[in-house]
This record gives sequence, structure tokens and C-alpha cells, in this order.
Amino acid sequence: MQNQFYIYNSLTKKKELFKPVNPPHVGLYVCGPTVYSEPHLGHVRMAITYDVLFRYLNHIGYKVRYVRNITDVGHLEGDLADEGEDKIEKKAKIEQLEPMEVAQKYKNAFQHILELLNVLPPSIEPLASGHIIEQQTMIRKIIDNGYAYETNGSVYFDIEKYNLKHHYGRLSGRKIDDLLVNTRDLDMQGEKRYPLDFALWKKADSAHLMKWPSEWSEGFPGWHLECSAMGTKYLGDTFDIHGGGMDLLFPHHECEIAQTVAANGKDHVKYWMHNNMITIDGQKMARSLNNFITLNEFFTGMHPKLERAYTPMTVRFFVLQAHYRSTLDFSNEALQASEKGLARLMKGIQVLKDLKSSAKSTVNTGELVLNCYHALNDDLNYPVAISHLFDGVRFINSVNDGKESVSEQDLQELKKLFQNMVFDVLGLTEKQEESEKDSLLNSELIELLLEFRNEAKLKKDFSTADKIREQLNKLGIQIKDTKDGTLWELG
Ligand code: ZN
Repeated sequence: MQNQFYIYNSLTKKKELFKPVNPPHVGLYVCGPTVYSEPHLGHVRMAITYDVLFRYLNHIGYKVRYVRNITDVGHLEGDLADEGEDKIEKKAKIEQLEPMEVAQKYKNAFQHILELLNVLPPSIEPLASGHIIEQQTMIRKIIDNGYAYETNGSVYFDIEKYNLKHHYGRLSGRKIDDLLVNTRDLDMQGEKRYPLDFALWKKADSAHLMKWPSEWSEGFPGWHLECSAMGTKYLGDTFDIHGGGMDLLFPHHECEIAQTVAANGKDHVKYWMHNNMITIDGQKMARSLNNFITLNEFFTGMHPKLERAYTPMTVRFFVLQAHYRSTLDFSNEALQASEKGLARLMKGIQVLKDLKSSAKSTVNTGELVLNCYHALNDDLNYPVAISHLFDGVRFINSVNDGKESVSEQDLQELKKLFQNMVFDVLGLTEKQEESEKDSLLNSELIELLLEFRNEAKLKKDFSTADKIREQLNKLGIQIKDTKDGTLWELG
């Protein structure tokens, strides 16, 4: 299978046969989240996409080192123009926490949600704040090579100089002239020689909380730099696959290429992969557009757009319904269809366990197996692989009904296929359904208690209302009264 896996390379804009630099080893780097808020469906699509890639590469025999970073410093609100407040610092001020408390809180939340979704942890999960020295070393190299300059304690990447020998815009296809037209005239550009230059190091003002000493100033690294520094530190100067959301393609990944080429003299990534966005009412689901649904809201059903709660496996199966390069539109209908589909698939696997073999098979199981691998080898086309698995389920049910028959050899092959595809590669779980039923029951019980509490409040029976709140608090359930009703969360 290894010599048949094709990946769509965003750099060349075509599907290419995957040939690792150093087989059987594969280096995979994925841009992880900036940890300043509860994970929403968009974050999760990124994590599930590369989880299936990680699982599939392992399944076909590669030894994968999967690095997915955590951004805990340097990601500014206006990330196109190196302006605005650090996202984590802003949240820290709102929540009255240390910035590192904010980062830790949402990193824990992210990891917890991914565990529920059966996303495997990466091999290394480095923090940007833990690699300040590596980032400073890289800036020094870029300056020494003549591709960056210092102004007032900040260091900027020199796009004009870079473009004399290299090509900024190679990944995104953006043209310098078009970019210049769209660049807003900002104060900060006074420090830049050229409007498109981006920050490698920013001098911090006195109010800034997360800052480190450096030869240029007390400050912090530019957001793009961490991925260049950590990717090459853990995976080498040239590695196989770099993934991330399509919204990171420009400027984040374009800048990453420029920085690495400027520091090391060569490109560091063979295959660039980008997963598409989740849409909601035809718009990208994003924190910045304030139209996101967090995973906790999916699991409890507590969001105006949700008709009810959905289990983690339903959410995972929903994400697997569209190829990673297509957009995936959120709707309750689609989630409910996923829920039914998943139940049908799991039921098929149950029936398969007790299926009796006959002397002859009426279906070619070899072809079914080939179809599944063919789909995954075609740029990880998991929705097509899933449709072939449903062909398998129809066959299993027909055999069970006595309408078709399966030989012992084919039966074993079917069992192996479903084990490999459903559990190992797609990462779905069966057992979890039970605990999910429990957690669904729990959420319904909590809702019931909140209803009693509201009734007590309406009757001005505040001691009962308070007692319910206190008892729930003791069980680790936090309650928040909002204008849209009472919300609750665990922890
Ligand atoms: Zn990144």
C-alpha cells in the first residue's frame, strides 16, 4: 500500500505520489491551536483530519513522528499586520488570570475534548513559549543571512531582499502587487522598510506581560516563527508533511516557508496539506466571526443552533462525511444523519461478529478491500472509503437474512477489513457508545435539576434554588445564569 498513497500538495497544486525523505520514517508537522478559548468544531476538524492521516500512515507501515504545536504566545489579534493585543494576554485580562494560566486551561480543554473524540495524542506537542531560544537562534541566522533587519528593538523579515533570490507567494499564489494594494496604512509600518515585511521579534511595551530578554529588546517572537523553529528542531531541515487549516495558508505558512528558506537556505517541507473549513449558514465557522459552536455545547446540546446533544463519536463521524479539502456545512439534519449512519455501521459490525460462513461467497470481498484502500490512497478520501464500508454492511445484513452467503476465508477478510478501517484508521469506537449514553443521561438529569431550580426561583424559594446550585457545584458542575437561560459546564 505504501507505494500507492497520493497526497494533494498545496504547493504544486496537484496530487503527488507520497515518497518520504527517509522511509520508513515520516515527519508530520501540524499547526495546532492558539489556546485562549474553548475548542470549537473548526479546531476539531483540523485535529480529526490529521489524526486519520497519522493513523493511516501508521497502518500502512510507516513510523511517524507527529508534531502538533500549541501556540501560547505571539499570536496577535491583527495577525495580518503584526498589530493588536496578544490573544492570550487579552483573555488573561478578561478572566483575571496569568497568561500562562489561560494557556494551560485551554490546552487542557483542547486535549480533553480530543481524547473524547478518540484523537490520538501527537508524538510531540511543543509549546511556543518553551522554544524562545530556538526562535531567537533562527532570527539571528536570518539576520546573518541578510534577510531581516532590526528597527527600534523589533526585527522584521525583509521581503524585498528575499524576493531578489526567492519567491514570496509561492505557496499561496498571491502576487506582491495585489498584496500591497490591500495593505492598510498602519502606524507600525513606520518601523518596516516595506509594507509586507512581517515581524520576527517584537519589542514589548511596559504593559505587555509575556516577554523575554533578547539581544534586540525585551520582547516576544512573531507568530509565524514558532512553527519554522519547532518543525525543523524536531523533524529536521527537510521533512515530509506539513498540515494545517486552509486559513493558515496565507500569511502563516507563506511566512513559514520564507523564514526557513532564509535561515537554512532551502525549503523544509515536501508536501503541504490544508484542510478546509466548517461552514455554518454559508459562512466560515470562526471565533472571529462569533458563529462558532464549542464541543462542550455539542455534547450538552446547550446552544441555540443545536436541536439536542450529540455524542463525541457522532461529531467525529460527521467530520468524516466530507473529504478534508471540501467545506463541511453544519446542520442538525447532517448530524442526525451521521448519528444514524454510525449506528448502522456499528450494528453491522455486531452482526458480523456472529455471522455464519457457508461453502461459497456471493460477493467479492477482495474487491471491497481494494476499494477501501484505493479511496484512502487517493488523497485520504475517507468519505468514499466509508461508502464502501456501507456496501459491506449491506452484504453482511443480506448474509444474516439468508439472502447471500460468505465463505470462511471471506468472512475473516471482512472482519479484518472492518477492524482495520473502522477502528484503526477512522478511529471510531464502539465501547464509548455506552459511556456516551451515561453522559447523555447525566446531561438530561442536570437539565432536570436546573428546571426545578428555575421553578423554585419563580416561586421565590431561593433557599431551594441555592441548594441546587451548591450541590451541583460540589459535583463539579458550574452554573451560569444568562439572558438566554441557565448554562452549565463541567469543571
Ligand atoms: Zn503554524
